[in-house]
Amino acid sequence: MGTVEQIVIARRTGVCYGVREAIDKAKSARAEGKRTHTLGHVVHNEGLIADLRERGIENAETLDDVHEGAAVVIRAHGVTPEVLERAGARGLEVIDGTCTWVTQEHRELQRLVDDGYDIVLLGTPHHPEVVGLLGFAPDAILVDEEEDWVKIPRRKRMALITQSTQPPWKFERLAAFMVSRCHELKVVNTVCPVTIRRQEDTLETARNVDLMIVVGGTRSANTRELTRLCEINGTPVLQIESPRELTESTDFKQAKRVGVTGGTSTPIEDLAAVVERVALLAGVGPVHAAASEVARMALAEAATPQYRTTSLPVGSAQ
Ligand code: SF4
Repeated sequence: MGTVEQIVIARRTGVCYGVREAIDKAKSARAEGKRTHTLGHVVHNEGLIADLRERGIENAETLDDVHEGAAVVIRAHGVTPEVLERAGARGLEVIDGTCTWVTQEHRELQRLVDDGYDIVLLGTPHHPEVVGLLGFAPDAILVDEEEDWVKIPRRKRMALITQSTQPPWKFERLAAFMVSRCHELKVVNTVCPVTIRRQEDTLETARNVDLMIVVGGTRSANTRELTRLCEINGTPVLQIESPRELTESTDFKQAKRVGVTGGTSTPIEDLAAVVERVALLAGVGPVHAAASEVARMALAEAATPQYRTTSLPVGSAQ
């Protein structure tokens, strides 16, 4: 018999608006009958990727893989100006799914370049968003972990900007570090508010449960940050990519209350599936017996329409 009496989903989880918009744009283009490619996967979630594939939306790793005359959807991470130029030169229909927040980062970065600042970018090397950002500021100094920071030179006028999903605490520490590196420091805070809210809600949930389950890609930085926050709070945590990873042998640590949260590419429906799985595997009698109802209730309490996977009307492209 299991021990779990209550399972909750953190508020404001599900696919973020930037990812959702890119998904919707790809679905809409396909529904209009266009041959549609995405330039790289628009979302790091196997269920959503399979859904797009079934709709006939093809993934292209590079522009060279996009067929003549096709529509190509730029994902939320954005791309370099050079990629957009090449797509235009090939006569492709570009559907820009760059998240509005990332577009704002591009503008801010361009302004810093124009104003002549020596720019430091906090970001994960090779991450698609960072690759796109560096297209606007090729001379920016890219730093990630604290060990990197010593390579920041001393300059008169410096500016600091960040990849959207970096943890706020790291950005603040780097800003403090850079004060001693220059005479004038301009700090442009581009940490995405969705990421911040998600971290706050995850922490709030973690404080009230005995075990947290974080759902998201193992390579997803924002997912790993959620796991790290749970650990800092002292709440036992399991990080998984899919409900299938929860099995009879999973150690639920005798938890009575379990919290579920997810990264910005994880649909809220996946979190409900995790709730159901936990209820089946570790729920006390009534919770086990009503697993799907427990999942439905947890979803109803957490999900608001803005956090659904798609914003398109039912029947058109869902
Ligand atoms: S995490 Fe924020 S910046 Fe990144 S795609 Fe989502 S909403 Fe946009």
